Amino acid sequence: MCAVTAIEHHTNQVLNVSVVQKNEVDNVSGRMELAGVKKCIEAIESHVRIDDVTIDKHPQVCSHLRQAGYEYHFDPWHVLKGIKKQVRAEMKQLQNEDDKNQLKELGKRFVVHVYTAVEKAEDDPSLCKEYVYSLFNHVRGQHEWEPSNFLDLIPINANTKVGQQFKKEAFAKVLKCPHFENSAEFESNHQPIDPSSNAYQKILEIASKTPFLNDLGRLKHGNFTSVVESFHSVVIHYRPKRKYYSPKGFERRTMLAAMSWNENRLAEIRGERTVVQVYEFYSKAKGEKTVKYKKGPVSEKWKRKIVEDAGREPKVLDFPYPWKKMMMGLLMCLLISLTSS
Ligand SMILES: [Zn+2]
Repeated sequence: MCAVTAIEHHTNQVLNVSVVQKNEVDNVSGRMELAGVKKCIEAIESHVRIDDVTIDKHPQVCSHLRQAGYEYHFDPWHVLKGIKKQVRAEMKQLQNEDDKNQLKELGKRFVVHVYTAVEKAEDDPSLCKEYVYSLFNHVRGQHEWEPSNFLDLIPINANTKVGQQFKKEAFAKVLKCPHFENSAEFESNHQPIDPSSNAYQKILEIASKTPFLNDLGRLKHGNFTSVVESFHSVVIHYRPKRKYYSPKGFERRTMLAAMSWNENRLAEIRGERTVVQVYEFYSKAKGEKTVKYKKGPVSEKWKRKIVEDAGREPKVLDFPYPWKKMMMGLLMCLLISLTSS
């Protein structure tokens, strides 16, 4: 079974949950996502107009959205997952331990940098590209540059293959590192990297591939990844992965998760969940300090309401706001559960 969830991206409210069973799609599990997305869109379009959809990069879903005339974007996490995989594969090819570690480190920095670039560029594809590739200047110690083609500025070894599209790109708007915007003084805990090193050239090879360059233009800002991640943690609570559920049970547990999630987002909007603690912690993944906000207890009143209303089937999730008049962007996060046949 597979559940597709649609989350509205300004309020982070779940608008629809669609569950698809394998037997609905001739037992081809690869078709479940598309079927789920179609169900979701249909259900939502009967209430409101969808303006823009953010999805993980699923070819069938993309082509469906294209044909149906929707604008669509990608959740950065899914695209960067592919990059991380390529970095791991390249690491296996290297013999020297130092080279391996340097590649691993630079790979991590690249992924973090892309997230930051996506947020900074705020859906401007060309700006996003320039921010992303500015890392190749920054890591070798160049923090300001004149307008120039990527090829003229980024050193490329003779045996490094870079994509055709990359060769046509240039720095036009981004002419210094983003860290300059925060302060003129810059301290780095990294030593500049030799651009002829294996690590630099391998990351460049991975980052300059045309499919990645095209994907960059579709990465959606707005920290979707963390929204999807936290929603997923709520789903896991209500519908643990290791257990088998009947289709009805699966669907209802997913709905409960959505109600719990929505109720807590609404409680935040109403100001009922306040920040009770601010703390700093060291993120291993990002390799830097991050500030976390601990919020007050979750709102559970909605559960009592369900018990009181028992007997009436909550088939459709209510729209808590006058959505109908709003045009909205939607984040469809595809939550694929363990298939249980
Ligand atoms: Zn810099």
